Amino acid sequence: MAKNLTFDSLKKAVKEGTFDTVLACFPDMQGRLMGKRFHAVNFIEVSFAETHCCDYLLATDLEMATPDGYASSSWQNGYGDYVMRPDLSTIRVVPWLEGTAMVLCDVLDHHSHEPVPHSPRAILKKQITRLSELGFDAMMATELEFFLFEKSFDEIRKNQFRDIKPISGYNEDYSVLQTTREENVMRPVRNHLYAAGIPIENSKGEAETGQEELNIRYAEALACADHHTIAKHAIKEIAWQKGHAATFLPKWDHQKVGSSSHVHQSLWQKGEPAFYDPKATLGMSALMQSYMAGLIAYCPDYTVFLAPYINSYKRFVKGTFAPTKTVWSIDNRTAGFRLCAESTKNVRIECRIGGSDLNPYLAQAAMLAAGIKGITDKMELPKPTKGDIYEESQAMDIPQTLRSATEKLRASKMLREAMGDDVIDHYTRAAEWEQEEFDKVVTDWEIARGFERA
Ligand code: ADP
Repeated sequence: MAKNLTFDSLKKAVKEGTFDTVLACFPDMQGRLMGKRFHAVNFIEVSFAETHCCDYLLATDLEMATPDGYASSSWQNGYGDYVMRPDLSTIRVVPWLEGTAMVLCDVLDHHSHEPVPHSPRAILKKQITRLSELGFDAMMATELEFFLFEKSFDEIRKNQFRDIKPISGYNEDYSVLQTTREENVMRPVRNHLYAAGIPIENSKGEAETGQEELNIRYAEALACADHHTIAKHAIKEIAWQKGHAATFLPKWDHQKVGSSSHVHQSLWQKGEPAFYDPKATLGMSALMQSYMAGLIAYCPDYTVFLAPYINSYKRFVKGTFAPTKTVWSIDNRTAGFRLCAESTKNVRIECRIGGSDLNPYLAQAAMLAAGIKGITDKMELPKPTKGDIYEESQAMDIPQTLRSATEKLRASKMLREAMGDDVIDHYTRAAEWEQEEFDKVVTDWEIARGFERA
């Protein structure tokens, strides 16, 4: 598989004329790539060391608003600069754009050059460091589900998001026939990403009209989040190149199932799977059990990081393969946490709660924090739940609204200790703002329901 480029090989390739453009980007709070397109010569001569961006990029929303209430960035503080420092180990070719390479950046304080605490890469790196202090590495995989549409983003927007038609006419779960008809988008997605050094496993049809899934081989947590972010970006760009649109909104039609981003996770020690104990029940080591106990017990605290918007909560509907309860079960897709590959070296836990809109840096960081707490407190794993867990009235519900998940985040002692008060206050404000913006709007549903009949 193609590897990332070294800085020396980038310099050589620029001199040979292979690249004329270098994208320097970082993942924002929403998990999108933000940054600049450098002339490749400027990048290799000057900007590889650092470049700058406005600090509002880590204190905004999906629509680039300037909400109040952030300690880090505000009109009062004049919205100054952050430093974007290219992580030169992440240079890669962007095969779906001509003559283009990409590098991911860390976001640093302009004056101290310390990592900005609420920048998603810094948040994840902090939890990876905490885990490595316990002697473990995290291996993660985040699945990407999304819908493809007949028309382009521009056509759909001009039509005010009405009459949106998915690219296919029927549920295409594992359908080879229907997905062949989507290969003009999905084949370049797989091949271009693979050539960009992202270990693509496969794509498949998912359980709705026009729904696809992309799977990437598990990797060390930071690489996994980088892969996810670049893949999501590539899917949108390649769909656009082919005259189509792709959405990662978890629930674009309340009558259809939503899109998820399941997170597979396992801990390793010196290259060996630390979740596996051949002598233990289901092959689950004591470490795995306490990690999972933390993951499950603290799920409400970090639900905002799995479901960050109003729309995210519309996905948690029984009978749709999206979970509603924070329990674990053995290879059971109705549970929030599914034990996979039990009694094998690949034994791992899949969190099924996250929507396709999650920011993989934040989701993984929050789950690592919860798992670490489980390990350090030697928490005890409850028994697995069996059967149709949608009907388990005793099991704890996933927070059902953004409002309730926001309050759990605000009150989370565990996350405040693990991530810092500044980080939790920042993301609590982001979630509050999302709710405030929604609460101001009169929706189509209210008009249709009440215009005449109220
Ligand atoms: P399924 O078909 O049940 O969804 P897959 O075998 O396709 O399962 O694996 C789903 C994801 O889990 C893949 O992205 C894979 O790379 C990842 N995965 C496999 N083993 C591990 C592991 N030990 N730790 C973390 N992720 C893993």
